[in-house]
Amino acid sequence: MIICLKCKSELRKENERYLCNSCGFRADIINGVVYFKPEIDETFESYNPNALDVFYKYEKEHFWFKIRRDFILKIFSKYVKKSSLVMEVGTGTGNIARELKNNGYDVVISDVHKQFLDFEKNKIIEKRYQFDVNEPPFEDHFNAIGMFDVLEHTEEDEQVLKNIRKMLKDDGKIIITVPAHSWLWNKYDYSHKRRYNLKRIREIFKNSGFDILEAKHFFVSIMPLLFIRALIERDNGNKDSADDLAEQQMAINPIINKILYTILSLECKLIANISPKIGGSIIVVAQKSKN
Ligand SMILES: [Zn+2]
Repeated sequence: MIICLKCKSELRKENERYLCNSCGFRADIINGVVYFKPEIDETFESYNPNALDVFYKYEKEHFWFKIRRDFILKIFSKYVKKSSLVMEVGTGTGNIARELKNNGYDVVISDVHKQFLDFEKNKIIEKRYQFDVNEPPFEDHFNAIGMFDVLEHTEEDEQVLKNIRKMLKDDGKIIITVPAHSWLWNKYDYSHKRRYNLKRIREIFKNSGFDILEAKHFFVSIMPLLFIRALIERDNGNKDSADDLAEQQMAINPIINKILYTILSLECKLIANISPKIGGSIIVVAQKSKN
C-alpha cells in the first residue's frame, strides 16, 4: 500500500493527488509523477543530475552500460517472475527500467530528483514516484526492488536497506549493484560515500533483515584497467563539473569499446556458476527474511 509520510495511514487517490484522511498530508501528481517530497530535490546533493544527458548519450553503446544491463537482466530472469511488480530506486537515465519493462516486468521508477523522472526517455514508464528513500511512502507493496549503483551514494546504507525491506512484500527480493574494493577508489567516485567488499555486503544485508541468495563480483577481466585508473586518476578533490567528469569517464575509442564488450560478454557466461574473488562491481540478490 501507499502510505502517508507523516502518520503512516494508507493514502487515498483522488483526482491528481494522493490524500491522507487522518492528517491531511497530500502527494500531488504532476505530469504523471507522484511527488511525495518535492522540497528535498533542490538540497539533495548526493547525486548531481547534470550529467544525465552525457550518460544517456553513452548508455546505448558503452560496454559498461551494455554489460551491466545484460547482466542485471539475466539475474532478474533467474530470480524474479515475469509480470512481477518491480520498482527501480534511483533510476538515472532509466536504461535498466526500460529493459526490464521490455522483458515483461511491471516496472515503476523512483528517484529523489525530478529531473530524472521528467527525463523524456523515462516517461516510457507510466508510474513514476519522487521520494527520498530515507522516508519510503510504500509498505508491503513490491515483489522486487532494484537499486543499481545507488547504495554507495547514501549516507546510512543499512537504514536504506531496512526501508527497502519495508516496501517489499513477503518473500520480496532486492537486487543491487555497487562499486567494489576501496583500493579501486578514483576520481569518478567523487559522489560516493564508499566502495564495497563482500564482507561488508553480507553484514549490512543480514543486519537489515535479508537473506542473501547470491552475491558476487563482476567486471572481473577489466580489473587491470581499473587498477591502473585508480593509480593514475586519483581522487584529488578535483572541481570539474559533473558533466565534464561524466564525459571524461565515458569517452572511449570505439574499437576498444567493442573489444572490451566482447571480453566481458564472455566473462558473464563464465562467472554464471562461480564467484570471483575480485571485480569492479558487486551484484547482490537477497530475499526478505521471515523474521
Ligand atoms: Zn497522514
